[in-house]
Amino acid sequence: MLADGAKVGRWQPVSSGRHAFDLAARSSEPGELVRALCGIPVSSDELQRVADELAWIGKATCMDCWRVLAKRTR
Ligand SMILES: [Zn+2]
Repeated sequence: MLADGAKVGRWQPVSSGRHAFDLAARSSEPGELVRALCGIPVSSDELQRVADELAWIGKATCMDCWRVLAKRTR
């Protein structure tokens, strides 16, 4: 089954790792704090930045976000 983007959220590498966010978090105001699915606050600036290849490879996936998504899609 294909993942539904609106349901599963989006992964984004930020300074503290690779976290998942609701799609609504992407449209927040610049400088606003948004929460990853695991609850950590992240500046929306980081979220809206286009991540380069190295950021994707170098960041560890947040397992708390992963578990939240797994519950949603079950
Ligand atoms: Zn997370």
